[in-house]
Amino acid sequence: MYHKFELDELIEFTKTLKVLYVEDNKDVRDSILALLENFFVSIETAVDGKDGYEKFQESSFDLIFSDIRMPRMTGIEMIRLIRQEDDTIPIIVTTAHQETELLMDCIEIGVSGYLLKPINLKQLTKVIKQNCEKIYYKKQNELYEASLEKLVQERTKELEEAKEVLQKLVSIDPLTGLYNRRYFNEISKTLFNLSKRNNQPLSVLMIDIDRFKFINDSFGHMAGDKVLIHIAKEIMYSLRNSDVAVRFGGEEFLIILPGTPLQGATQIARKIKENIEREEIPVYDAQNNFIKLTVSIGIAECECKSDQGIDDLVHKSDEALYQAKRSGRDTIRCYNVNNCEM
Ligand code: GH3
Ligand code: MG
Ligand code: MG
Ligand code: MG
Repeated sequence: MYHKFELDELIEFTKTLKVLYVEDNKDVRDSILALLENFFVSIETAVDGKDGYEKFQESSFDLIFSDIRMPRMTGIEMIRLIRQEDDTIPIIVTTAHQETELLMDCIEIGVSGYLLKPINLKQLTKVIKQNCEKIYYKKQNELYEASLEKLVQERTKELEEAKEVLQKLVSIDPLTGLYNRRYFNEISKTLFNLSKRNNQPLSVLMIDIDRFKFINDSFGHMAGDKVLIHIAKEIMYSLRNSDVAVRFGGEEFLIILPGTPLQGATQIARKIKENIEREEIPVYDAQNNFIKLTVSIGIAECECKSDQGIDDLVHKSDEALYQAKRSGRDTIRCYNVNNCEM
C-alpha cells in the first residue's frame, strides 16, 4: 500500500526531508553524519537525549535518528517524551548493543527502525527506504487533506458571498437601488423598538412625486423610470448612513430617520425637496427644457413613550402627505402640526 521507491527517486525525495540526528559520541556522529549526507540535505544534530528533545520541540522534523546510550537523557527516555507529542514521526535507533531488553523497549516506545553500529550504507539505505515510503504516504495524505480543507474554505466563502448577494437582491429595489418594502418590514420594527428603548426620537418621511402619472403619459414609461432613478439618487445624497430610504410604492419613498426629532426631519425634508426641484433630469419638454418636478412630503415623529407602533407612525406620515397633496402639492406637512414647513 505504501509508495515503492527506486533508489534515484528515493534520494530525490529524501533531499526534501528534515532530519534530526542525536548521538553523544563525536566520532560516531561525524561518521554516521557523512553516511546520512548521502540522502539528506537538512540534518540537525543533537549531542544527547535532552538536546535532542529540545531541538524536536523547537522545529519540525520528518525523521529522527537516535543513539540510545547517552548522558543526561537516554535515547529511550527522549523517544518516550517525543511519542507523547507525536506518535507518527518515524524514529530510527542506532546502537552498538543488541540486547533483547533494549529491543523490547524500542518496540514498546514505537521505534520504527533499528540500525546496528557500525552502520553500512546498504543497511542504512534499506531502513531509510522503508521509512520514506511511509513518510511519502503521510505527506501525500497531508497534501490531500490540505487541498480538501482549502476547497471547503473556498466553497464556504463562495456560499457566503452568494448569500450576501442574495440578501442584497431580496432587500433592494432593482430600479432605484433603494431598499424595498420587504427590507423595510424587516428593519423598521428593530429601529423603532431601539428608539423606544433608548428614549430617542425617530421620524419618518413619506415622499410622493407630484403628478407623476403625467410624466409617464407625456414622455413614456422609460422617462418615468429615469425620473424615479434620479429622485432616488437625490434622496440618497441627502441622507446619513444611519437613515434608511425605502421605495415604498411606485413613486412613493419612505425614509426612516433614527435619532431625528420633527424639526430635524423637516430640515432634511426641505433639503430633499429643494434638491429634487433643482435637479436637471434629462427628460425634455416640448420646448426642449428639462422637465420640472416637485414632490410632496408628509412627516411624522414617533411618540416614543406611548404604545404607538411603526405601522401607526407610517400611517401618520401618510396622513400628513395626504394633507400636503390636498393643500395643492409641492409642499411639506407634519402630522398634527400646523405649518411645520415654516
Ligand atoms: P399625485 O400628485 O396625486 O401623487 O399624482 P400622481 O400622478 O403622482 O399619482 P398617481 O397615483 O395617480 O400615479 C402614480 C403613477 O406612478 C402611476 C403609475 O403608473 C406610476 N408608476 C408606478 N410605478 C412606476 C414605475 O416603476 N415606473 C414608472 N415609469 N411609473 C410608475
Ligand atoms: Mg552513546
Ligand atoms: Mg403615489
Ligand atoms: Mg404622486
